[in-house]
Order: sequence, then C-alpha cells, then structure tokens
Amino acid sequence: MADKTRFARVFARLQPYRLWIQTAFLTIWLAPFGFQYHAVCAPVFHCYACPLATFGCPIGALAESSALIGSLAGVGILHAIPFLTLGILVLVGALVGSLFCGWACPFGLLQDLAARVPTPKFELPRWMGYLRFVVLGALVLAIPYFFGIEHPLFFCRVCPAGGLEVALPNMVQQAAKGEAVVWPNALKVTVVVVFLVAIFFFRRPWCRVLCPLGVIFSAFNRASAFFLKLDRNKCVT
Ligand code: SF4
Ligand code: SF4
Repeated sequence: MADKTRFARVFARLQPYRLWIQTAFLTIWLAPFGFQYHAVCAPVFHCYACPLATFGCPIGALAESSALIGSLAGVGILHAIPFLTLGILVLVGALVGSLFCGWACPFGLLQDLAARVPTPKFELPRWMGYLRFVVLGALVLAIPYFFGIEHPLFFCRVCPAGGLEVALPNMVQQAAKGEAVVWPNALKVTVVVVFLVAIFFFRRPWCRVLCPLGVIFSAFNRASAFFLKLDRNKCVT
C-alpha cells in the first residue's frame, strides 16, 4: 500500500506535465526512426496499419484472432490464440491498470487536445460507460468469432482510429497523386465524423463510452500493483 501511495504522489506531482508526457510517448508509438514491430502490440490504441505505427494494435489483434478461432471450428485453435497480446495486456493491466490511458495513449492525447478548445462541454451519463463492455464483447470478440472479418460490424471496419489514422491519410495521398479517392464505408465515415464532433463537446467520449481497450485495462484497476485511487472530481478519462 505504501508503494501505491508513493506511486500516486509521484503522478500527482507530474500532473501539470501530463500533456508533455503524452506527447513525448508519441516518439515511441509513431515510428519516428522507421522501426516497426507490428508483431508486438503496444498497450495503447493506435492503428498498426497507420504509416506511423511502431507496434501492433491489441484490439485489432484480438478481433482478428477471434475471427481466426471461429473459422477453425475447434481444430488447432491453440495456434490462433494471441498469447503475446494477451500476455502484454495482462502484464500491463496487472502492473499499472489503466495508467497508459491517462499518460501515454495517442488516441487519448488527441481527445485531450480537442478538449482544450473552448467549446461548451457536456457531461455523459455514467451508464454509457457500460457500452464499452458491449463493444468489447460483441464487436471485438463475438461478431468476429461467429461471422468473420467480412461482417460490417467487425470492429476494425467501424474503428475511428482506423478511419483517422489509415483511411484519411490514404485518401489525402490518393487526392495528392490525382488518383480516384477511395472512401471508407458509410458506417465508418459516420463513426469518424461523430467522433470528431464529439471530442469538442465531451471529455474523452471515445475512452468513456466505447473504447474496448480502456475497459480491459480498467478491469485490472482495483487489483493492479500500482492502483491509482479515482478522484471523480479530477478524473477526465
Ligand atoms: S482499425 Fe482500430 S482496432 Fe483495428 S487495428 Fe486499427 S486501431 Fe486497432
Ligand atoms: S480508453 Fe482507449 S483510447 Fe482512451 S486512452 Fe485508453 S486505450 Fe486510449
């Protein structure tokens, strides 16, 4: 408990520099020197298909593994279980819970930056946080397992990070080269537009309402080695 208290005090002192620390972590996630290890997932929400991605995306890995396991019909599923990704998630969750969400995740940083724009901010009802479990259970695990990656609700097909970090740069590149611009499907465009509007009027709407990675890490919070006590008056994630 003493360690946890000391840990919490350190981060309380670092709080004024949180945005800088989040920004500094971009040098790890955005492959600034061209090193890419997509076989290893980072404990943050960042699309592996982004031209600037050092590591793989744990949610994409879970969704694809679930689809693969579903397609194998029980034969050889051991080889399809993403042990490395699960191990990273369990290790990070057990050690620091959702600490990476507040201090290192680039998708969290994007929402924090948007929240600094002086637009009116509204509160989200607490019950909406349970939607994250639905997203994880249905879109990341069940739909890929039963219907495969071609289903329109396969998580990556509606993921706003994929839309912003992959589809959008591709479209800009196509337009710059004078090629025909290939648009993502209508559902993904809608999700991205809603996300881009919502981040200016709600604090971290994706994290609070829909992020399946955030809900995995938050499940570890009470048991993690360095659990940080939640202060609802200060917490925005
Ligand atoms: S589309 Fe979303 S879930 Fe899929 S790999 Fe990219 S960031 Fe991860
Ligand atoms: S909840 Fe998801 S998007 Fe938000 S900071 Fe955590 S991992 Fe990143």
